[in-house]
Amino acid sequence: MDGAALAARIRADLRDEVVELGEIGLATILVGEDPASQIYIRLKHEAAEAAGIRAVDRRLPEQTSQEELEALVEELNDDDSIDGILVQTPLPSHIEEASVMRAIDPVKDVDGLHPFNAGQLYFGSTTLAPATPLGIMRLLAEYRVPVAGAHAVVVGRSLIVGRPMALLLLHENATVTICHSRTRDLAAETLAADILVVAVGQAAVIAPNMVKAGSTVVDVGMNRTEAGLVGDVDPGAGDRAAYLTPVPGGVGPMTIAMLLSNAVRAARFRRRLLAFPGHSV
Ligand code: NDP
Repeated sequence: MDGAALAARIRADLRDEVVELGEIGLATILVGEDPASQIYIRLKHEAAEAAGIRAVDRRLPEQTSQEELEALVEELNDDDSIDGILVQTPLPSHIEEASVMRAIDPVKDVDGLHPFNAGQLYFGSTTLAPATPLGIMRLLAEYRVPVAGAHAVVVGRSLIVGRPMALLLLHENATVTICHSRTRDLAAETLAADILVVAVGQAAVIAPNMVKAGSTVVDVGMNRTEAGLVGDVDPGAGDRAAYLTPVPGGVGPMTIAMLLSNAVRAARFRRRLLAFPGHSV
């Protein structure tokens, strides 16, 4: 499944929407110097600018306190020119991530990690959901992979990928299994999957013989190795699967496209073009 090609089309469509909506501001906050995070921030900014979205790059030193970080979030909450706020994770270990996510105005929460938006997803009335699983649902739709009634297995249960992925698949009527580090027999679970989504962060955690013949395999993993960037799925699985997303060029570009889509969606909420539940007028 070619995520890069679909992402390019989505981004071109978003550009038209941005022209129609007027100026949209997306602010990112990066705390510390994590090299991978710096790359992700750069890619998000380049994509935002290419779509005509004004990207605001706020950086704080590694030793920033919880209060200082949340004060910056508040400043951006109050800034009317900012439609979306993204706090890049992982945050330094002394910062309580959940508290930072709670500090973001839910209507600007383009990563969908505020408990309000996570709750909306749980209820099945999505407001702003995490970009990676949204992008995967778009890929499945694009390639007409049947989801209703399919057995979907999600490996990984993070708040940003695994859990929201399982919920989105469930809302589309898949029969969903969630696996994690304590799963007793991972291969037995993955072999039963019509749709297998892998978000672990470990190269080749899924071997070719763990994949059901004719299934759809979505590789979320991004592992930097001496051989370059690799996913969580051994590429040999492509011989058994009907579809496999490549790394790079699969889920990664879709994540960025859906982040921009969330920024546009947040702008629509803020301009009252879409109703945001409980939002005061
Ligand atoms: P986390 O580290 O937050 O979660 C990893 C999950 O994998 C956990 O639930 C963990 O279980 C589970 N796990 C660990 N080892 C095993 C194992 N041996 N068998 C089964 N499950 C296991 O990672 P993220 O969800 O944030 O990211 C996962 C990967 O996806 C990373 O490589 C990341 O870089 C990549 N990523 C890629 C994106 C993209 O756009 N392409 C976007 C976001 C992430 P437990 O809960 O029990 O610890």
